Amino acid sequence: MSNVQNYDPDCLFCKIVRGDIPSDKVYEDELCYAFRDIDPQAPTHILVVPKTHIASCGAVTAENAGLVGYIFTVIAQIAAAEGLDKGWRVVSNVGPDGGQSVPHLHFHILGGRCLSGQMG
Ligand code: AMP
Repeated sequence: MSNVQNYDPDCLFCKIVRGDIPSDKVYEDELCYAFRDIDPQAPTHILVVPKTHIASCGAVTAENAGLVGYIFTVIAQIAAAEGLDKGWRVVSNVGPDGGQSVPHLHFHILGGRCLSGQMG
């Protein structure tokens, strides 16, 4: 079980990080957790989330920007480890109009097929 700061008992991804709900884990360290999306939109579809509960990119501040930058280093490592050498996409949806369905900051890593021309 992982420690989640700002744990939100109503948050699906807080529960996944804590291990209360099972997930197909790809990566974990003290700051972030990555797992395969349950409804993959590409051959590789991984979600990377901070272990602390942040609602979305809309809640990124000077205080947590370092964590977000660190998560991008993990995203690059995961993409390399998944062999996405022809390219990949990172997406973070924000709010209802942005298509966000889980209000815990997460980055989708999508790859393994050509994604060009599909932006929404
Ligand atoms: P978003 O719509 O940007 O908030 O992304 C939420 C993502 O979480 C979607 O792509 C869902 O398929 C994915 N998802 C929902 N529940 C689970 C789960 N239990 N395990 C893995 N992925 C999930």
